[in-house]
Amino acid sequence: MLRRALLCSPALLLVRPALAQQRLSVVASFSILADMTRQIGGDRIALRAIAGADVDAHGFQPKPSDAAALTNAAIVIRNGLGFEGWLDRMIRSSGFKGALVTTTDGITPRMMQAHHHHHGHDHGGAGRRHNHSVGPRQVPDPHAWQDLGLAQHYIRNITAGLVAADPGGEALYRRNAEAYAARLAALDQWVRAEIAKVPAARRKIVTSHDAFGYFGDAYGVRFLAPQGVSTEAEPSAAEVGRLIRQIRAENITALFMENMANPATLQRIAQETGLRVRGRLYADALSTETGPAPTYEAMFRHNVSLMVPAMRGDAA
Ligand code: ZN
Repeated sequence: MLRRALLCSPALLLVRPALAQQRLSVVASFSILADMTRQIGGDRIALRAIAGADVDAHGFQPKPSDAAALTNAAIVIRNGLGFEGWLDRMIRSSGFKGALVTTTDGITPRMMQAHHHHHGHDHGGAGRRHNHSVGPRQVPDPHAWQDLGLAQHYIRNITAGLVAADPGGEALYRRNAEAYAARLAALDQWVRAEIAKVPAARRKIVTSHDAFGYFGDAYGVRFLAPQGVSTEAEPSAAEVGRLIRQIRAENITALFMENMANPATLQRIAQETGLRVRGRLYADALSTETGPAPTYEAMFRHNVSLMVPAMRGDAA
């Protein structure tokens, strides 16, 4: 009787709609950042991912409803390092007045060669412009989320953004962030222990595009890809031919497709080398809820569980 009376008390009835209104409106540019943000913000935030599960965020084409969501958001969370040029353009045109959180703030990016095709449209669309006198152009590699150590920067930046926009939620955000940071640190140790099961000379993987440079640096695996840091340009026949010769020369057995990239080139490499594609790595996007990588943590467990036996050349 007492419980029922409490539930129906006018004070509680007043609190509920107020809480619903308080849910902080947060937009994340792509699925991986959305999951990280959900782990920290929980039910206190209303969250939307623009580039969703299995969607390639490199050459993403936002819909008008995405722009509308941006206009009303209190916070927009992006990766930065040139990953979401489309988002920067949307922010300029949407009248977004909220706070912009860049999750890679504080990270020293690894630089990489911009293949010889261009990384999208942000550099003036000059196409295959070369300048041989200064060597290959270097661009920051945006895929920093593939290093669980660097993910700690992502957690700090997201948490700071949520706390600044919603100080009333600070205790909750900090508690969630601390637990999440501890889980990712434990996962990082697990990844290192798994990779250690592969002889050092065999730690080589071929994937669709250069999404795993940070993973490679962090965990001591060498990644080769026919496509550069962006999925926006197709590799040339000469580049693919060079990669095939390297796979044969170095006896590489770990060949993977990616969930959001075009599989055609990888299938051709598999045909010409006689290797079997060992499955699908989750690179720049999570899977749907029913897939093998619906969260950032599940993505690492899935990817590493496929990588280790493939690198060793275990029969599958
Ligand atoms: Zn990518």
